[in-house]
Amino acid sequence: MRSHSEVAGTGSPRPPAVGRVLQHPDVAVLAARHGRAAATAAVQTAVAEVRTGRLAPGDEVVLAQRVAQLLDGTPRQLRRVINGTGVVVHTNLGRAPLAARAAARAADLASGYTNLELDLRTGRRGDRHSLLADILRRLVGVEEAMVVNNGAAAVLLALTALCRGREVLVSRGEAIEIGGSFRIPDILRLSGAKLVEVGTTNRTRVSDYERACTPRTAAVLRVHQSNFRMTGFTERPQLSELAAAAHRMGVHLLEDVGSGLLPPAPPGAAHEARLGKSRADGADLIFCSGDKLLGASQAGLVLGRAGLVERLRRHPLARALRPDKLQLAALEETVRCIDEPGGMELIPVWAMLRADPRRLRRRSEGWAAQLRKIGLEAEVTATEGAVGGGTTPGDPLPSFGIHVPCPHPGAVRRRLLAAETAVLCLERPGGIVIDARCVLPGEDGALIAALAAVLGAAA
Ligand SMILES: *Cc1c(COP(=O)(O)O)cnc(C)c1O
Repeated sequence: MRSHSEVAGTGSPRPPAVGRVLQHPDVAVLAARHGRAAATAAVQTAVAEVRTGRLAPGDEVVLAQRVAQLLDGTPRQLRRVINGTGVVVHTNLGRAPLAARAAARAADLASGYTNLELDLRTGRRGDRHSLLADILRRLVGVEEAMVVNNGAAAVLLALTALCRGREVLVSRGEAIEIGGSFRIPDILRLSGAKLVEVGTTNRTRVSDYERACTPRTAAVLRVHQSNFRMTGFTERPQLSELAAAAHRMGVHLLEDVGSGLLPPAPPGAAHEARLGKSRADGADLIFCSGDKLLGASQAGLVLGRAGLVERLRRHPLARALRPDKLQLAALEETVRCIDEPGGMELIPVWAMLRADPRRLRRRSEGWAAQLRKIGLEAEVTATEGAVGGGTTPGDPLPSFGIHVPCPHPGAVRRRLLAAETAVLCLERPGGIVIDARCVLPGEDGALIAALAAVLGAAA
């Protein structure tokens, strides 16, 4: 940080010296509580804010107030949030909560060194992208597998490594936006491949792909229509038909399945593409996310033909899209759960998707009773959750929760987010709703406490 005298030389309003502010009695109290280093850092921040005009210039008292705010009011920016929305794979809430075993594995490996890039059999340099290849190959039934940072990275890497400077055929109905900033046309442009849209928005046939194919074509890209569903007069070829056509044309069939489902399908996700089936149907490479229906950490899986995966692994972009050891640790442990008999139940995403509505109702009744005991009105209500994560639109998950009446649901929602343990609820006319499906075991106490603090204070 620049010294005070330097600043004075610039002609900015002259803030009080850091040392003087530290001696202010209010700040001295804070320094005793938070430690001198933290207090000094906060004073320096406040002084810098005056210098840059973010804080109005004032005397030590003004600065002391700001320092108090900085020290007392700096909650961690990444915090636990109780998910009262009933949306299981909620992207705003960090998608899949990890299985306890996966979280413990990541925590254990986090504090030490690992063989992230060391082959323990040969003692030579290893490849982090391939660490999970064996188990993924066996579980999904593909020749080869690699892991990258997320689903979008998998698609970008494949298009760059296999299709750069060439054409990729995509159905008009699949040149879509997945949410946030992931748009298929943008990813294609970024990869250096040329998007050739075929068919129409609602109907695309194999013959549309065949007509568009030229010697410049490198691949057909099939994209799972994750976050919307077209109904009515629609048509698209079966994956197996499309694969056969792509192979007749001598190009690759790449499939972005998005959620990545390993059998069996949980309720509400019957329409999701099965990873193993995609490969069996002839897709050369399949891409999916680790933190959607797989219920693991953020990751992107690339599954399919060995020669193609090898080209991705060797591409320089792979380095920029590589997964970190914590992602891999959690992903490996989650995949091991999936591989074990009964292990699916250990994965929160699966347990929540399969939660029995009768149990959700009983849990909601318990909460309502607890709230009534402390003088708050609450009643059990039927709700509709969702799988989320751009998965299975239009397949609601019938659920139960509590409705808590309040005159200003918007204000209560905001205050619940600011509570000691943040709670994301649903806003309804005349009240708020907490859907029980995604409130994790062990969060009941914190949920009731947050509701009591926010609504009790309002009552
Ligand atoms: C979610 C999704 C992606 C992006 O995956 P991330 O893991 O979020 O990067 C890409 N394609 C489809 C079809 C998706 O549903």
